[in-house]
Amino acid sequence: MFLKEYKSKRNFIKTSEPKGSIKNKNRSIFVVHKHNAQNLHWDLRLAMNGVLKSWAIPKKPPMKSNLKRLAIMVEDHPLEYAKFHGTIPKGEYGAGKVEIWDKGKYQIEEGTLEKGHLQIGFSGDKLKEKYHLIRTNFKGTQNSWLFFKAKAKS
Ligand code: MN
Repeated sequence: MFLKEYKSKRNFIKTSEPKGSIKNKNRSIFVVHKHNAQNLHWDLRLAMNGVLKSWAIPKKPPMKSNLKRLAIMVEDHPLEYAKFHGTIPKGEYGAGKVEIWDKGKYQIEEGTLEKGHLQIGFSGDKLKEKYHLIRTNFKGTQNSWLFFKAKAKS
């Protein structure tokens, strides 16, 4: 089922997050949510194959190339989530304030999700230029990736 895990975690009567109905548009937009849940984190979301591929980043996304951030791949979110901001009610999944920290367009310059390596060119307000997302086997899981800014070519 489309977005099964996403839907199974949420009660749409109580939360104003989108249910997810847009299926097959593939815009190359991205959004980063600042999510003040139990633990503050940033959610990087890339529109890909009709959904938002999503990673939770426990620390602020790096602006310089010398910082690597752990990025945990989480369930696909609906495309409409790119516009979502608000407060998820107490007691609900991900309870807390969700803000749009950055948004804009992106393009994959190299790699694929399946290969576990993406080189991404961002054109947001905060995320600009090239970043890498690389799958690792941190703690033996398939969901951990590293997110870091590529070194500028001189
Ligand atoms: Mn989150």
